[in-house]
Amino acid sequence: MEIAIDHIAVSRLASVDLTNIPFGRVFTDHMFSMDYRDGKWHDATIEPVSELSLHPANCTLHYGQSIFEGMKAFKNLEGTPILFRPKMHARRLNASAERMCMPAVDEELFIDAVKQLVLLEEAWIPEGEGSALYIRPFMFATDEFLGVAPSETFKFIILTLPVAPYYSQPVKLLASDKYIRAAIGGVGEAKTSGNYAASLYASKKAMEEGYDQILWLDGKEFKYAQEVGTMNIFFVIGDTVVTPKTDGAILKGITRDSFLQLLKRDQIPCEERAISIDEVFAAYEKGELNAVFGSGTAAVAVDVSHIKYKDRVIKLPVEDNNLAQQLKSQLNGIRKGEIPDHFDWTHPVFAGVDVS
Ligand SMILES: *Cc1c(COP(=O)(O)O)cnc(C)c1O
Repeated sequence: MEIAIDHIAVSRLASVDLTNIPFGRVFTDHMFSMDYRDGKWHDATIEPVSELSLHPANCTLHYGQSIFEGMKAFKNLEGTPILFRPKMHARRLNASAERMCMPAVDEELFIDAVKQLVLLEEAWIPEGEGSALYIRPFMFATDEFLGVAPSETFKFIILTLPVAPYYSQPVKLLASDKYIRAAIGGVGEAKTSGNYAASLYASKKAMEEGYDQILWLDGKEFKYAQEVGTMNIFFVIGDTVVTPKTDGAILKGITRDSFLQLLKRDQIPCEERAISIDEVFAAYEKGELNAVFGSGTAAVAVDVSHIKYKDRVIKLPVEDNNLAQQLKSQLNGIRKGEIPDHFDWTHPVFAGVDVS
């Protein structure tokens, strides 16, 4: 499909300080957008970011048929924009779409749209260490109908945002024995908006107790660790890295997958399996819990300093250059083209060259 381009008259870039950007609030000049109707995608366009006009009966507002992705573009040492694992993001978007009764987006069109938008917004990619252009593709239902049924029309948009380095402090997690994020058979594996809405209350309660985020446990027994809600979770027990096996209720993080591949490459023992909160506490009490960290596109890797569960608390020292930080600098190095990419994860974006 041809992508029409409607350029902005005057870029807003001159009024933005790329060295001081609050996360999630500063958008580039253009967005990609297309509409689904009559069983097909239409009107693929890159145009100035503008407000949408929606009927109050827009069914996403009422029933939440909505999905998204989050990925990043970087500039390599030569100044060429690089996408990180765009195909895997396209596939995950389509897996989410399938689960939420939404139409697929052709993988090549997805990559082409991201690529053309990133090229157009090249000047917005911040170059400082750890900075990036955050890419937010999302899709939502547009039928104007107050009935519970899959919509027949949808909008797909890609926004891009310059983001500053994410200097992450170690986080304190509260393992909830009261609230759940997702259960087997539900939509935990889909990157769908409702999962976030459903998590807000428990997260707010955790913050009131002085914790940063919830460590979600499984929805059936409140026993097995799932993830943190914007991040997947890793436990280092002895010399072995353990992360919960994805079971339909856990989001399949692309950072998680990248870390597992890096660990395997470096022959660091790692296991994807069910891990109970009791096992985590038992390992801690035996002095075998060496570290806990989260993984996700935004922060790459975040150290966990505390885990509270009922009336017990794990306190972990966060060491410099620990495994999480090593994985983070490996991945950042690969993402920025500073470390050779033997996995074929990175896709440089040149004008007129197909990246797929
Ligand atoms: C996006 C997301 C993650 C992290 O996935 P990445 O692909 O590594 O960014 C983890 N958990 C949830 C619920 C998510 O939505």
